[in-house]
Amino acid sequence: MLSKILSKKECAKCRICCCFDSSDVWETPIITKPLHDKILGEYNPKQKFIKKDNCYILDMPKDESDGLYYCSMLDRNSGCILKDDKPFDCKIWPFRVMDFNGVNVITLSPVCPVVKTRSLEDLSSFIETIAPTIFQQANDQPEIIKPYIKGYPILATDC
Ligand code: SF4
Ligand code: SF4
Repeated sequence: MLSKILSKKECAKCRICCCFDSSDVWETPIITKPLHDKILGEYNPKQKFIKKDNCYILDMPKDESDGLYYCSMLDRNSGCILKDDKPFDCKIWPFRVMDFNGVNVITLSPVCPVVKTRSLEDLSSFIETIAPTIFQQANDQPEIIKPYIKGYPILATDC
């Protein structure tokens, strides 16, 4: 979905967004019921989940060597095993849908070291092309909407 501004090669060298520490567990991707069932049926029948509203999040064991929680769908050599089935949150990362005073907005997480190097002009033009899809998904699956975090740049508003 983001291939116009981010290459697979750049992500392969990074993978920051597939591991979490205790301060950013809110970023773990929301898993819908159909995806939950697909993960159990096709990817890992032993995967454990934590229920969150009408959806789930993946139960990720802590890696005691560095204290981080690596996504259980991450293969450390080849990347996300879910490929095209990855959660919508992951398909649009580092863009986030947030609730800004009751209005859905698309923001950019400052954590991604690559996308933040793109010009604001390029990002805004790109977001215009995918904003309708993102806002539609947020309407269909409000669990992906996060509370607004001060300082996150707003690139589009659902109005
Ligand atoms: S943080 Fe950005 S560059 Fe790194 S893997 Fe995630 S999307 Fe790719
Ligand atoms: S589901 Fe895939 S893309 Fe999303 S955090 Fe896990 S490994 Fe990364």
